[in-house]
Amino acid sequence: MAEETIFSKIIRREIPADILYQDELVTAFRDIQPKAPTHILIIPNHLIPTVNDVKASDEKALGRMMTVAAKLADEAGIAEDGYRLIMNCNKHGGQEVFHIHMHLLGGDFLGPLVS
Ligand code: 5GP
Repeated sequence: MAEETIFSKIIRREIPADILYQDELVTAFRDIQPKAPTHILIIPNHLIPTVNDVKASDEKALGRMMTVAAKLADEAGIAEDGYRLIMNCNKHGGQEVFHIHMHLLGGDFLGPLVS
């Protein structure tokens, strides 16, 4: 059984977070240390530690994460200019919280991902 992270407490509203969206599958909230003018994390409500642990039964929640990303980008007014969606996996990907999350970053020109 994978160990819960701070994100499970955010989902259950046991610790404060600026939650922008929540339904039966996913939760979205502002990153506590934003790396762009808009920096939102979108996560499944059930614990999946890394992208390596994703199963076919997770596809509904993963699809919802994408739908919610597009909706929140639109609501933030960054859809037309554009934005970046990132999921980090394990050490080389720079993953720090082991509850998968999609970063929605935008509100400025982000530059090339790799230069
Ligand atoms: P990772 O490096 O795992 O892809 O990204 C984890 C992200 O979670 C980081 O951008 C970090 O700022 C954010 N984060 C970590 N702890 C908290 C927290 O307690 N609340 C919020 N809102 N964001 C957090």
